[in-house]
Amino acid sequence: MSSVFHRIPKRNLPVAVKGEGMYIIDKDGKRYIDGYAGGACVSCLGHSEESVIEAVREQIGKFAFFHSAMFTSEPLEELASILTTDAPEGLTRVFFTNSGSEAVESAVMMARQYFVEIGQPQRKKVIGRRSSYHGANLTALSVGHQLSRRAPFEDILANVFHISPCYEYRGRQESETVEQYGLRVANELEQAILGLGPNTVMAFIAETVTGTTNGATPPVPGYFKRVKEICDKYGVLLILDEVFCGLGRTGTLHACEQDGVAPDFLTFAKGIAAGYQPIGATMVNEKIYQAIVSGSGTFKGGYTYSGHATACAAAIAVQKVLRGPGFLDHVKTTGNLLSARLNERFGQHPHVGDIRGRGMLMTVELVEDRSTKAPFAASQDLSSKIYQNAQARGLITHALTGTIDGYVGDHVVICPPLIVTSENIDTIVELLGEAIDAAV
Ligand code: PLP
Repeated sequence: MSSVFHRIPKRNLPVAVKGEGMYIIDKDGKRYIDGYAGGACVSCLGHSEESVIEAVREQIGKFAFFHSAMFTSEPLEELASILTTDAPEGLTRVFFTNSGSEAVESAVMMARQYFVEIGQPQRKKVIGRRSSYHGANLTALSVGHQLSRRAPFEDILANVFHISPCYEYRGRQESETVEQYGLRVANELEQAILGLGPNTVMAFIAETVTGTTNGATPPVPGYFKRVKEICDKYGVLLILDEVFCGLGRTGTLHACEQDGVAPDFLTFAKGIAAGYQPIGATMVNEKIYQAIVSGSGTFKGGYTYSGHATACAAAIAVQKVLRGPGFLDHVKTTGNLLSARLNERFGQHPHVGDIRGRGMLMTVELVEDRSTKAPFAASQDLSSKIYQNAQARGLITHALTGTIDGYVGDHVVICPPLIVTSENIDTIVELLGEAIDAAV
């Protein structure tokens, strides 16, 4: 019997012993193609990128660890410089964390500290979106809205107001154009700010492209431009969470580039060191940095392992690959191919209601009835069946049950390592088709 406190103990977990490019191999020698990049886009370079492995070896041989409040290090400085060089406009500073949840928590804490430093301590409210996921610590759970994960903690979460997500398949009314829909849901932010009191709101947080709760859901064109206008009008800081969708996953370095907006905070994690080391980051603009530095002088957050040199060394190597010649073009091309293959295989499928996503981050949404969009009953536990069917066939994918305003539905997220080939895509789509057909 295992004495590990596994998060999902009822899941029959194979023992991973080796990674090889797109594949994970278990103790019995079974090979699994990684359709989920090692757990939500972490392993974006697959499992055998030699330049990253070598960078880790070399750095760990130099020193084990120095606290970033006592020393800086060359890898720490170099990584921050790489990330800020091609950051969205105005993002000039990077604060390092160990995970995405901590990156989100740090952004919320910095937003709060900023307003305290500039003499507006009454600004303490955060607005988030329903159906979002921002991580598992109490701050991230508070600003997010994954109901099943929040449930046991509701009474101790911070009081955060949530507006509608931008989820065209479920939210757009037939009488609306896509643009009208985007403006309507963006305008909910303005109504929320006015309702809460403009001078009391400090930040709005959203995933640029969602990845978890309702699968990969890109915003409709114009949505974030309107959000940004509203934030600017009321002095509310915009936090974009790109822990899932950032750093190449959508075909551009930052997902928000495609929406034409630059936030006040941008959070990352999975794509920074591609799972070779745990690391996250919060990028922030100069206004916020300077307010803290020229105010109390110290950011009151921070973690012992912030800016760990070995993690930074791994991340530098990963970031060089991402920025290498042709890499993002490869993501765009193979992303288009993945979308095309999913549409060929599932476009007419009686139980697939929507196929959506951006770049190498796609979702297939399952429905009992395509014409009414009625989901399968939660009691059918369809997502678990699809997950198990896929695993039995040697495909790692993420099937999840999402919740939005009382509606519960099943989605499969497909986000393989960015090094995926067209043959790999064919294999993933074929195995996924078998797994879904055997479940519905
Ligand atoms: N934000 C988003 C958008 C995520 O998808 C996740 C994790 O999936 C997180 C934050 C939390 O990241 P971590 O699990 O590294 O704490």
